[in-house]
Amino acid sequence: MRERAFADRLLAWYDRNARVLPWRVAPGGGTADPYRVWLSEVMLQQTTVAAVIPYFERFLANWPDVHALARAEDAEVMAAWAGLGYYARARNMLACARAVAADHDGRFPFTEAALRQLPGIGPYTAAAIAAIAFDRPANVVDGNIERVIARHADIRVPLPDAKKPIAAEAATRVPADRPGDYAQAMMDLGATVCTPRDPACGACPVHADCRARMAGVAGDLPLRRARAARPQRRGWAHVALSDEGWVLERRPPRGLLGGMPGWPGGAWAEVPDDAAPFAADWAELDAEVRHVFTHFELRLRIRVARIETPPAGYELVPRSAFDSASLPTVMKKVFALARAHSAFERVR
Ligand code: SF4
Repeated sequence: MRERAFADRLLAWYDRNARVLPWRVAPGGGTADPYRVWLSEVMLQQTTVAAVIPYFERFLANWPDVHALARAEDAEVMAAWAGLGYYARARNMLACARAVAADHDGRFPFTEAALRQLPGIGPYTAAAIAAIAFDRPANVVDGNIERVIARHADIRVPLPDAKKPIAAEAATRVPADRPGDYAQAMMDLGATVCTPRDPACGACPVHADCRARMAGVAGDLPLRRARAARPQRRGWAHVALSDEGWVLERRPPRGLLGGMPGWPGGAWAEVPDDAAPFAADWAELDAEVRHVFTHFELRLRIRVARIETPPAGYELVPRSAFDSASLPTVMKKVFALARAHSAFERVR
């Protein structure tokens, strides 16, 4: 009965070593608030725990429950999300809060199938909420858990093909008792002991029967298929200050950085259109911003200008109200680079 022993050893370790996180309850302390679990899981997709904690705390302070978030203004929530990236997630998060408030009386459903009906909740997030918030024996497999399983079972199929065999192996190990703590214990083991490089096998509660450790390949797993190089795109960002404030454009609601404010510029492409979006006495910076998105790498060249009459069709943010922190990261980088440049003197 290796699987049973696996969960027992892991839970005993978790009882002593669980990370203290603001969305959690202590091991054995019952189930966590579904709103907090959901919010943390949405924020944690593609982002680290350390980066998420201040955002999570700010969201909870502003919107302490799902009804409060459902009533929030879109722009307010998007501004609070700025910097976490993947803005489609923030839009889905709001749609989900509104669906839970309107259709479920503010209570998250507890089955994976019902959770998956909600906007932005995929198989992983549904399993995580069902396990952590409702203690259901769901098979939760995030990147950390994938690594632990690939190593413990010595699965040498490269990712992403390994996802299926890893999930199948993981499913055999989920215990009927304390499945929520078990899921979190696996996440913690992956994050703190069975780390991507140099796993601390000596401190691992399941090292005795870890096949990759025994075979001497722990640090090499999981294997990954070689990734193709990211394509490059180029574009322009125009930082202009008028007497009425900074000139910003809002991106279309769908797509990359959808609904977020940014510095005006044309489409990002392999060969971008070099024309400025409106006439001004532009100064071009001899520096560019580089930013990596999931599917491409972007290089943005920058022009700055001081203008008297603001162009039509743009958003104007008065200097006193402007806060570059509410811009998406790439636009924040543009502003930081522009501000540090000597050409910026003419804009002030
Ligand atoms: Fe990971 Fe090492 Fe534990 Fe195996 S023994 S699960 S490789 S930390």
